[in-house]
Amino acid sequence: MILLSADNLTKIYDRQPVVDRVSFKFESGKCIALIGPNGAGKTTTLRTLSGLIKPTSGTITFAGKKQNADNRESIGYLPQHPVFFKWMSGKEFLVYVGRLAHLSKQKSVKRAEKLLERVGLSESANKRIGKYSGGMKQRLGIAQAMIHQPKLLMLDEPVSSLDPIGRREVLTLMEELKNDITILFSTHILSDADEVSDELLLLHEGRIMESGSMTDLRERYQTAKIELSFEGDLIVYREKLNALKHVTNSWIDRGYLHVT
Ligand code: ADP
Repeated sequence: MILLSADNLTKIYDRQPVVDRVSFKFESGKCIALIGPNGAGKTTTLRTLSGLIKPTSGTITFAGKKQNADNRESIGYLPQHPVFFKWMSGKEFLVYVGRLAHLSKQKSVKRAEKLLERVGLSESANKRIGKYSGGMKQRLGIAQAMIHQPKLLMLDEPVSSLDPIGRREVLTLMEELKNDITILFSTHILSDADEVSDELLLLHEGRIMESGSMTDLRERYQTAKIELSFEGDLIVYREKLNALKHVTNSWIDRGYLHVT
């Protein structure tokens, strides 16, 4: 079943399209990475898809229906810089968030406990968030986004601000969660996308430049006799660059592509 689709989604700020005629669809049960350099429009795309901001034009369909307030509730969103109350414990925070999501006190407590276990924070449930590591905070953020049992989890750069340990914790959690929930996450690091996603959407200057599974992309690039490495960054031989019209110098300038 197609869970989310966007058709010609456009968001214009100051007469500049930040999201530019973006179209894609993905099925329930997948983990999709929205990948692109800083400023590509990832956050704006996610915020628009989640219903936090309105598109200038285009349509979003969620589970077969045009996006509305009801189906927006089926989306859990973790912003790039989530705000926590540091003086609260992880559990107090999730109970509070549950109450904001109109759960009864009792249900909030139950849900908080279940989620803390799900994200591996049961043992730190009563510790103040101020004492949490970056990875723990991000896992708490994921639990927060799942408080209302969404069908789709949208995570904006969930690992980009983390140290290697935190990054590993969160990627492992995403790997586990993707068995239960559809995930759409943004990243500017290809190896993160390679590790956990089933499909990629490559965004550049607001436009989708490539999409497909890693295998699709590998095959596509290899066919064009372009060497591609998913260990870190894309690697393309300079003499073959013309074969990829969408490979622009700005990708190279930003270190997104390495040309050898
Ligand atoms: P990314 O998440 O890929 O780094 P963003 O979606 O945050 O990209 O931003 C894409 C572009 O849109 C940037 O040039 C940014 O300055 C611009 N932008 C984002 N939000 C706004 C806004 N509220 N008003 C004006 N410009 C914005």
